[in-house]
Amino acid sequence: MSTRTGTGYDSHRLDAGRPLILGGVRIPDAARGLTGHSDADVLTHAVIDALLGAAGLGDIGHHFPDTDDRFKDADSLALLAETRNLLSGASLKPVHVDATVIAEAPKLGPYRDAMAEALAGALGVAATAVNVKFTTNEGMGFLGRGEGMAAMAVANLEAA
Ligand code: MG
Repeated sequence: MSTRTGTGYDSHRLDAGRPLILGGVRIPDAARGLTGHSDADVLTHAVIDALLGAAGLGDIGHHFPDTDDRFKDADSLALLAETRNLLSGASLKPVHVDATVIAEAPKLGPYRDAMAEALAGALGVAATAVNVKFTTNEGMGFLGRGEGMAAMAVANLEAA
């Protein structure tokens, strides 16, 4: 059985007065959150792009355009669930997702399991099929200055 692989990358700006939502998990007491048309969940967006890439179905902007009011403040986990339906329509299913969030602060390790479980739940896979990692950018560049956060993901699919 052949496996299909896709990669995803996303970044969003940080701003005061926004909730910080990563992998569908709201991080309590975060001083700033990510800005965007949707809930700006950078981790979930990278995972969606990795899945769409593996499926050969284009990208997140194609399926969920930020010019569409339906996706204003959208719950990105709901978009991930819609992505799962797109995969099913192409007779594909996720096997494994691995992702990295690049952020200087806050400490995200305590939320790792909750993020993996939330992403896995939206995808309909076991939590062990989703791995989430965190790193800083060592103070370098826009990520190091805390202007925003970025995320990268790899997804593997197989025939459903
Ligand atoms: Mg995005």
